[in-house]
Amino acid sequence: MARRPSKHLRPARPLRAGYAESETKADGRWVVRHVPAPQAVKTYRCPGCNQPILPGTPHIVAWPHNPVIGSSSPVEERRHWHTTCWSRRP
Ligand SMILES: [Zn+2]
Repeated sequence: MARRPSKHLRPARPLRAGYAESETKADGRWVVRHVPAPQAVKTYRCPGCNQPILPGTPHIVAWPHNPVIGSSSPVEERRHWHTTCWSRRP
């Protein structure tokens, strides 16, 4: 087994992109994940302003902390929001 150069042995850093956090809004708790521009490759409809989120736009994805009844996974309930629209949400 060949030894790899030491730079390959660095411990994996936690990714800044893609981390999820929890936010409480008027209608409950949400898991919020930040989508950086390079990962925004599709057009989504923002439920806050009903405008498209174009590819290359950093934005957030939110889904309910608790699974919605009838849904197999809360991830299926995820919605893409403009970061500003989400932060304006009560
Ligand atoms: Zn919006």
